[in-house]
Amino acid sequence: MKKRDYYEVLGVSRDAPEADIKKAYRRLARKLHPDVNPGDKNAQKKFQEVQEAYDVLREQDKRRAYDRFGHAGPSMGFDPGGGGRQERRGPSPPPGGGAPFEGFQFDPADLGDIFGNLFGGGGARGRAREQGEDSSGSIEVPFRDAILGGFASLSLRREKECARCDGKGRIGRELCPVCRGSGRIAEAETVKIRIPEGTENGGTIRIPGKGSEGSRGGAPGDLYVTVRVAPHPYFERLGDDIHGIVPVTVKEAYAGAEIDVPTVHGLRRARIPPGSQGRQKFRLRGQGVKNPRTGQTGDHIYTIRIMLPKTETPAGIDAATLLDSLYEKPVRSDLPKGL
Ligand SMILES: [Zn+2]
Repeated sequence: MKKRDYYEVLGVSRDAPEADIKKAYRRLARKLHPDVNPGDKNAQKKFQEVQEAYDVLREQDKRRAYDRFGHAGPSMGFDPGGGGRQERRGPSPPPGGGAPFEGFQFDPADLGDIFGNLFGGGGARGRAREQGEDSSGSIEVPFRDAILGGFASLSLRREKECARCDGKGRIGRELCPVCRGSGRIAEAETVKIRIPEGTENGGTIRIPGKGSEGSRGGAPGDLYVTVRVAPHPYFERLGDDIHGIVPVTVKEAYAGAEIDVPTVHGLRRARIPPGSQGRQKFRLRGQGVKNPRTGQTGDHIYTIRIMLPKTETPAGIDAATLLDSLYEKPVRSDLPKGL
């Protein structure tokens, strides 16, 4: 893959002052950071590109070298500290691809500065040398736990540094028998996952530090868990609202009544007004789901279904006949005659 021009990557002109470069970087980094786009490989790739461009253009020496020699410039002799040592920063590169970040300086203070407010300071945590790859998994959680919060566990295989050879892949001149030369092994592990209140079907939970382990003391990657929420036999979630059907008697609907309505938070006493019709919907404010992103709580919306006694009796026929005489107009008078 051909490397894009660093100025183009940041969307600044070649003579842009340092402040503009920094501004452009911050804007793009906020938009593309993996915490904001979990699992989005394209965003991840772009984020790395931006990171790399900024690493060069922020430093006068490297920028000058880049201006003169292009992409070959900054890594040829203008490296103030890194030597030949490979360093990675930011998210893990896509598997098997991407240029290594050779010789770029890592400045945790810089990252903390940018992501401190957005991510509660988490961004400053050792995104440094030999960081472990991010990994992903999925779980199915009961409806109740997704709505009210709970815990789940996920069994997975976590990649770690091989303890036998200390990640070197060789013991003396022999290939390490445990990792067969790769320096890495996968170990079964069960990770406990806190399901936040209001977790949505298809949502992602980030578990910091539970991705692959780093090498040589590098920080581990993060684990991204996709959540499938099992459907509930009665309640249905639409957005932050919960929907359910509540059967009522003819009298309750006709004369109005106070009834118990099941919500995800338990039974709630509610009034239906006189003259309520079948399939009419009512709303109980604030009895829905708390949205973990907005902190807002949705409503409980219930639809009434008017039930009739199933067994036909003479008294029932009399009562129904009496009701029949009370309609203001024929019940089907508003229907069309056909197409
Ligand atoms: Zn080994």
